[in-house]
Amino acid sequence: GTLADTLARGVENVTDTVTGVFHDPVIRLGVTGLSRAGKTVFITSLVANLMDRGRMPQLVAQTEGRILAAYLQPQPDDTLPRFDYEAHLGALTASAPHWPDSTRAVSELRLSLKIRPSGLLSGLQGPRTVHLDIVDYPGEWLLDLGLLDKTYAGWSEEMLERMAARPDGPAYVAMARAEEAGGDLDESRARALSDVYTRALHAARDAGFSDCSPGRFLLPGEMAGSPVLTFAPLPPQSGAPRKSLWREMERRFEAYKARVVKPFFRNHFARIDRQVVLVDALGAIHAGPRAVEDLRRTMADILTAFRPGANAFLTQLLLGKRVEKVLFAATKADHLHHSQHPRLTAIMEALVREARDRARFSGAETQAMSMAALRATTEQTISHGGRELDCVRGTLLDGGKQAAFYPGELPQDPAHLLGPAREGADSWLDQDYRIMRFAPARLTLKPGEGPPHIRLDRAAQFLIGDRL
Ligand code: GDP
Repeated sequence: GTLADTLARGVENVTDTVTGVFHDPVIRLGVTGLSRAGKTVFITSLVANLMDRGRMPQLVAQTEGRILAAYLQPQPDDTLPRFDYEAHLGALTASAPHWPDSTRAVSELRLSLKIRPSGLLSGLQGPRTVHLDIVDYPGEWLLDLGLLDKTYAGWSEEMLERMAARPDGPAYVAMARAEEAGGDLDESRARALSDVYTRALHAARDAGFSDCSPGRFLLPGEMAGSPVLTFAPLPPQSGAPRKSLWREMERRFEAYKARVVKPFFRNHFARIDRQVVLVDALGAIHAGPRAVEDLRRTMADILTAFRPGANAFLTQLLLGKRVEKVLFAATKADHLHHSQHPRLTAIMEALVREARDRARFSGAETQAMSMAALRATTEQTISHGGRELDCVRGTLLDGGKQAAFYPGELPQDPAHLLGPAREGADSWLDQDYRIMRFAPARLTLKPGEGPPHIRLDRAAQFLIGDRL
């Protein structure tokens, strides 16, 4: 009846027409991190908390009541595996909850949000739809970017040197040095070398080392066993003849770059708008100083991908388009009492500082934080020997009993952990951390125990809040 109503209907019609012509806005959110960093749990919890609203107070659009609906839709990319949200959520919400299967390859999920606009036009416009396309991929694949600038000989030399100082590495180095690499290729020798090398990579990874290239050796996906994954570093050879083991290894290394690494960056990485890099910093700290040093170097390598100009191939591929925001998040913060969280955040900031400065310079907005996508613990302060200990309590994965732990303290100054004077660095998180293997809490905690996550809402606000 009123003029305003008529006007509102008019605007609605216009909006409909406009959205019919232009597509609904899409945010492509990349989720990455090394194996076990927490990608699967992060995505599952993010989607569950967006769909079952009310537990994301720091997500402004939600607090303002503007997220009217959130629902899963078929993803836009027909040939990409779908992120198996239902199976992962099923694991976390089972009567005996367990952790879901981890990320093995790239996958995608589309969550669509129906949003009431904010601001001046909010009364006039109808709700709009924003698609959140979440792309999950192993951080190991991102590290392969560094291979593009390397020759087989250069890469071999580097890896042999690094391997010499890692568990199971020396055995491989000895094998590689003993190999008659100038002789004719023998496929079974190639396979044996690449098998032993892959085992050494796994051992290094299990010991907390981060940089274990090539990335597909750890997470091969459908390429397992193919020639492009059947190579390994060999000591330099000058003048190895064609058809020799060395030359064939070199050829496969080049094929890996051209046929595996480049297509991944072209088809997936280049299309991402926003990125979260998850880091199991606590795990590395617990594993000891060498693992922390390795993580620091790996972070720098990962960040190369977000630094325009750092890599010629990528610069050409992106042609000026770049990731707008990058969040670096230390995961599993629920292993620590909140009084320790600022220290974890400071460590995370220190880990990415140099690279952050450069990314900011280039226009990408970055942030570091500590979070837990799924809080498996509650907090408890216990008096012990006249001291007050800030503990966390959770259900143990083995046996299902409740227990409280004191994981130890992180250093006040990250430089003690990351700098050259790593005083006492062997003993951070030494105490109970090793045995703190908690079962996931159901996605619902009792009232008064707080939200079922730590700062997942702040992460969401940083990553997508401005587009809602
Ligand atoms: P992905 O390899 O990056 O996909 O890692 P996952 O998401 O599978 O996580 C690996 C493991 O880390 C899980 O099985 C859990 O044991 C642990 N984890 C991940 N996120 C959390 C969290 O928020 N809290 C706790 N307590 N553990 C977590």
